[in-house]
Amino acid sequence: MKRIFYTLTFCSVFILCTCDVLDDINLFSLQDDVALGEQVALEIANDPYNYPILNNPTLKSNINSRIFQQVLASSKVEHKDVFQYHIEIINDDNTMNAFAIPGGRVYVYTGLIKYLDSEDALAGVIGHEIAHIENRHSTERLTQYYGVSLLLSIVLGDNPDEITEIVANLFVGLAFLANSRSDEDEADSDSFEYLRDTRFYPGGVKFFFEELQFDGYVESSSPVATFFSTHPDPYDRITNVSNFCTNNGYSNITYDNTTYTYNGTTLTLYKSEYQTYIISKL
Ligand SMILES: [Zn+2]
Repeated sequence: MKRIFYTLTFCSVFILCTCDVLDDINLFSLQDDVALGEQVALEIANDPYNYPILNNPTLKSNINSRIFQQVLASSKVEHKDVFQYHIEIINDDNTMNAFAIPGGRVYVYTGLIKYLDSEDALAGVIGHEIAHIENRHSTERLTQYYGVSLLLSIVLGDNPDEITEIVANLFVGLAFLANSRSDEDEADSDSFEYLRDTRFYPGGVKFFFEELQFDGYVESSSPVATFFSTHPDPYDRITNVSNFCTNNGYSNITYDNTTYTYNGTTLTLYKSEYQTYIISKL
């Protein structure tokens, strides 16, 4: 029973139901998200073969204090008093990915950390994952997929056999479905909003995609394919994030290797800090 939940919550979204009315309905409570996340985190901790958690307190502390907590400090992160926000690093250089589970946990692979080259870029990705948690996309999709009536019957105890069927179906079919575009767009735009309250460039989430595009990774089979299997449409997302920036006054960006400029103000991308506090600690 427990195991199914983490296959479905890896940034995974079910798009089989196209009923728009159900899009924003979530039958789960905030506390359900927390409880679900606890189960999932336990499963991950007990599966070091697939999810080798990196034991590097210095690196974890640096990412936590320099980026994760700073993004969480945004006033637009609304559930931080209920959710148990926490970041973990997975020791796998061949995977460029990050994912979130309900209730507050974010996991980032070393492959992604090594590929990025600025605190702004990592902050953008972390903001994106926090947005999936804040928007409760996993439990929203659970509601959407199974339907309100079925979930209500389970909650009310009228239909216990359905639970077994749900477990079986999740195992065979749903583990690796992609996020929906609307959830990805929402996570990108919320990441932008969170980062506006920080020292980071608000559009940081697009730096990763731009770099992938520059390196020719987007259309090849590569470690990054894992990322795109759960985070679709990189080209469109670069455009979307660029539009957020322009529409919110972050136009005229002329960033070079270390800084970006908008509206006459020059700010840093924190590339040297990324080397000092993060890459050199790996
Ligand atoms: Zn995502």
